[in-house]
Amino acid sequence: MHTIIEPFRIKMTEPIHLISKEERINALANAHYNVFLLDADDCCIDLLTDSGTGAMSTQQWAALMLGDESYAGSRSWKKFEKAVRQITGMKHIFPTHQGRAAESLMAHILVKEGDIIPNNSHFDTTRANIEFRGGIALNLLSEKGMDLTANVPFKGDMDVDKLQQTIEEYSVERIPFCMITVTNNTGGGQPVSMANIRAVKHVLQKHGIPLIIDSCRFAENAYFVKQEEEGYAEKSLLEIAQEMFSYADAATMSAKKDGLANIGGFFVCQNDKWAEQFRNMLILREGFPTYGGLAGRDLEVLAVGFMEALDYDYQVYRHATISYMGRFLEQKGIPYVKPVGGHAVFLDAREFLPHIPPLHYPGIGLVNTLYIEGGIRSVELGSVMFGHFDANGDEQPSPLELVRLAFPRRVYTQSHFDYMLEVIEKVWQERDKIHGYRITYQPEFLRHFSCYFEEL
Ligand SMILES: *Cc1c(COP(=O)(O)O)cnc(C)c1O
Repeated sequence: MHTIIEPFRIKMTEPIHLISKEERINALANAHYNVFLLDADDCCIDLLTDSGTGAMSTQQWAALMLGDESYAGSRSWKKFEKAVRQITGMKHIFPTHQGRAAESLMAHILVKEGDIIPNNSHFDTTRANIEFRGGIALNLLSEKGMDLTANVPFKGDMDVDKLQQTIEEYSVERIPFCMITVTNNTGGGQPVSMANIRAVKHVLQKHGIPLIIDSCRFAENAYFVKQEEEGYAEKSLLEIAQEMFSYADAATMSAKKDGLANIGGFFVCQNDKWAEQFRNMLILREGFPTYGGLAGRDLEVLAVGFMEALDYDYQVYRHATISYMGRFLEQKGIPYVKPVGGHAVFLDAREFLPHIPPLHYPGIGLVNTLYIEGGIRSVELGSVMFGHFDANGDEQPSPLELVRLAFPRRVYTQSHFDYMLEVIEKVWQERDKIHGYRITYQPEFLRHFSCYFEEL
């Protein structure tokens, strides 16, 4: 077997701004120890997110120039609609400017006070949009998904028995729909098996509850299904994606992930009534239904990007880069979520820094040290992002303390990965010196984006 190479060559370069450790120490202090508040130019390797950070292909750049900026019924819209319909098979297709716009309008039309929305794991914006409407966002991840070290496939699966119990406990009336997130971003970027989606659908169908797929990484999930699930080896990624969407009544999408674009999203559904309500809200909040907050050129780029994400060679390369990192961490005994996910590696900050209690935010300690040591920007998915306050106003930690290294698509090369591994190893060797943090300012919603920290 030869080395799996990047299935592209570089035609345009973007310089990385290299700054010293002292400059990084200052930059982080000025950002109140919250890496979301850093200047991107001060980050040598930016793994904050894989969202909207990918590199476009020559085909996409060429398509951009074909953008038809007509207000209504543009050519670019037709191409977008055709590509999304081919993949999802949905009757109604609505572009949105990004995923959370689709979620916000969906929650507006479908969620009311006291409603229960089950999911394998809600992403933070999905949860926030549901809670903003007074709904309750429930995570029903399978047992295997909660075990960070079980090296088994499809750890994004939902616990179907718990779903059944939830329906019995709260009654069908309180559950307007159920969601499933592919891949499960919050729980390690772990994939969901087709068998699980089918089983979830089977339970929901008995009770007449619709299924909405949060489909941000539908192509990465399709690759896992092809590689690891029986009966799919001979199917194309497109066919697998089509089967997955066939079980859904609707889907939300952030095209900043598997749209291989820098902005965009969609909401698609089969139900005419939902479509009418969604269309009305879309016009009010995003734009006319044939552009939905996007420029014609964005729609062009997306029509190409969705299909490129389903290219098998691209997915082979993408997964190879992430597995490479996993193999190294394994060799060095550095704690991470196993197996590696489809878009990211998640370090286990609780195991990495056992001397820092959850409410001193071990994840923030690790994130900030990776930045100071190597200029690597990562993100905490732990008690800052997912902690909550109970009825007495006491802060409750998240069950997991993870640090996500999310990989932008088609951006970093092998030597960048080798550099990241050197930095992580150095931080691991000096982990005893890392401190916890406390929060000195926090807003009401999505606090991780803008809160301030102080080192303990
Ligand atoms: C990114 C993401 C969203 C939100 O999409 P945006 O484009 O960032 O608004 C929703 N769900 C999941 C699983 C995501 O990864």
